[in-house]
Amino acid sequence: MPWSWKVVRIAGIDVYVHATFLMLVAWIGWSHWNESHHLGAVIEGVGFILALFTCVVMHEFGHALTAARYGIRTRDITLLPIGGVARLERMPDVPLQELWVALAGPAVNVVVAAVLAAWLQVSGAWEAVDGIGVATGAFVERVMLANVLLAAFNLLPAFPMDGGRALRAFLATRMEYTRATQRAATVGQGMAILFGLIGLQGNPILIFIALFVWIGAGQEASGVLMKSALAGIPLRRAMLTHFRTLTPASTLGDAVDLLLTGSQQDFPVVAQGRFEGMLTRSDLVKALPQRGRNALAADSMRECPTAQASEMLETVLGRLQGRDCHTIPVLEHGALIGLVTMDNVGEFVMIHAAERGTPG
Ligand code: ZN
Repeated sequence: MPWSWKVVRIAGIDVYVHATFLMLVAWIGWSHWNESHHLGAVIEGVGFILALFTCVVMHEFGHALTAARYGIRTRDITLLPIGGVARLERMPDVPLQELWVALAGPAVNVVVAAVLAAWLQVSGAWEAVDGIGVATGAFVERVMLANVLLAAFNLLPAFPMDGGRALRAFLATRMEYTRATQRAATVGQGMAILFGLIGLQGNPILIFIALFVWIGAGQEASGVLMKSALAGIPLRRAMLTHFRTLTPASTLGDAVDLLLTGSQQDFPVVAQGRFEGMLTRSDLVKALPQRGRNALAADSMRECPTAQASEMLETVLGRLQGRDCHTIPVLEHGALIGLVTMDNVGEFVMIHAAERGTPG
């Protein structure tokens, strides 16, 4: 996700923080300072947010580790003001598995809240009930309450919240997946309007959430539509077959010529028909000032995930959405025979949809 920075790597999963999450931390610090003009209050306020951040990371690992049990890897976890987003390599295709993956996150918060409540009970540290709020009261009690709210909030039936996924998974046990997604997305956008309206009464965070939910619901629905449009289509039918390549002897200058004289952005380096690596446009632009036009293109190329010509389009989609390569080379018996790009897949879907609309 753009505008996010890596902070830590746990169990092989990178955890990123999004700029808007840092804005939330800054806003909390600022509002505590405004209220009290006391550094201690700012530290406590920010410390509370960081404790919350830790609980959110644990929540996301609840999803990631449950998905791992079904053999699904998690690409990364990003923290946003509304919580975290774990980018699973794919969603489980079995609705019941998706249901468990969705519910595992809030379940972690329920467990954390229960453990903290037990600790408060044993140590006799409970404060008067009317004194507790997310912003007031003893630290541990507030963290406990926040976990209860996290669980409850994430269970709201709105994408990209877990409740939305759980709702979709539940609906998918009784109807077709695309329809279930659209139903769930509609419920989610209805909730977004509700959040927005309540937010307008003076809660800016809720307006934020409304926006995220609205966008999330739309993305989820179009992602699933795309996936269903691609189901059962061989990669061979949607790959680019007219493309330019570089050889191990090509220079960056050669790549510049290819870039400027065509619409292709990433160039495979090919030696005797075999794919060696990809010189992407961004790598080319980065390498030019450092190495000059005469440098070998092969020294600036990167490894990209490849696809086999016999694969189905939908299985390649995840690789296309990866961080590093936006062009995937298609191989047959080890030889490069085509390229797949998101643009190309988008055009394929467009034509496919247009043809389905015409008679015959
Ligand atoms: Zn979650």
